Amino acid sequence: MSQSTTLLFGLPGVRVQRVQVGEFGARIVHVITAAEVLPGCPECGVVSTSVKGHASITPRDIPYGEREIAVIWHKRRWRCRESACERATFTESIPEVPPRQRTTGRLRRGIAAAVADSARSVSEVASAFGVTWPTANTAVTEAGNVELGEPEPTAVLGIDETRRGRPRWTQDPVSTRWVRTDAWDTGFVDLAGEQGLLGQIEGRTSACVVEWLNERTPAFRAAIAFVAIDPAAVYAKAITTPGLLPNAVLVVDHFHIVAPANAAVTKVRRRVIWEQHGRRGRKLDPAWANRRRLLTARERLSEKAFAAMWNSVIDSEPSGQVISAWIAKEQLRGVLALARTGADRSQIYAKLYGFYRWCARAEIEELATLATTIETWCPAIAEFIDTGITNARTEGINRLIKQVKRSACGFRNVENSHRRIRLHATRKHRAATAASRALPAQL
Ligand SMILES: [Zn+2]
Repeated sequence: MSQSTTLLFGLPGVRVQRVQVGEFGARIVHVITAAEVLPGCPECGVVSTSVKGHASITPRDIPYGEREIAVIWHKRRWRCRESACERATFTESIPEVPPRQRTTGRLRRGIAAAVADSARSVSEVASAFGVTWPTANTAVTEAGNVELGEPEPTAVLGIDETRRGRPRWTQDPVSTRWVRTDAWDTGFVDLAGEQGLLGQIEGRTSACVVEWLNERTPAFRAAIAFVAIDPAAVYAKAITTPGLLPNAVLVVDHFHIVAPANAAVTKVRRRVIWEQHGRRGRKLDPAWANRRRLLTARERLSEKAFAAMWNSVIDSEPSGQVISAWIAKEQLRGVLALARTGADRSQIYAKLYGFYRWCARAEIEELATLATTIETWCPAIAEFIDTGITNARTEGINRLIKQVKRSACGFRNVENSHRRIRLHATRKHRAATAASRALPAQL
């Protein structure tokens, strides 16, 4: 057979001997070990020249062309003649098909790429490549073991929760009551470097965050200067565990402060309509009709839209509670607008004081609650204003996580789920950072 066929087949370490057409037109490629692969004993490394016999294996390979392709590798069995070696015989092996492996390396890489890059499900990829689910899953696991090492230290760590699957209802055998259980994962993201998703752990408690961090190296924990979280007491408790993260400072970002302020506006609006009409809001209620404008940032409303919103809410609601809540939200946004302006603490606190005073004078329960929340998280908010660190990157990663979950139609095995998600997120992240680096500097 010509050298060209071997080149075309392209599996390193073997030479194509002949190609035969089998049943139903399937091509059968007979290969032998390439001459440059010396028959060295895997035990002692001594090259043997004594052939003991032959053995052939049929490793699964990547699809090539429209019809099936089968590979038969005719190997030789060698005697180890090294007197000090305990191994009597060995067969030839090549890096692409190590001993006891039933698939070629390029097939396993192809499967892992299909699953990890495109977020396709393991079962779909398995059938596309003509292998069983366990074979495909093993290929993905191997890629994970190679590519997903221990996270490198990062200065900024983001922590966020994601729901895993749908809520489940289980019946308590004693009380016979049905209880809802939500499966949650906590994700850890590199917000300073280019590692993307660093890992996930089952659950969203303080204990599981501590557990994940304790599994990292002391150098990893010591390197963390900032931890960005949403204002969740359990995460804050974990981060401030004495001695766990000696150099870390908590940061709560813009998005996670505006969210409770918007929620307070909505709660006041709903309550006021109930008090006025004894029912839920309708189109004819100005506060309901303006519900989206009430949540839009002031500077993003046109003068006309702002005036329409303001006037109709004021006219329809004489107690002024809805507009008071809106003003509180905008005051808080004013505090956050100081981010990365170099504002010092006295400027931050002066603006915050205006917000607190407004909430106190309004005598609205929802605003009192909001002010208490902001007060609790005040140091972490001030850190955000100083550093501008945000957890926004975790939002992008949560989108990738959803892609994987959607394709998998639910995971039964948490470890498989975490590996696939991290592989997908890491590969996407690397592709994105490589693409942005490739852009010309002037862009
Ligand atoms: Zn040997």
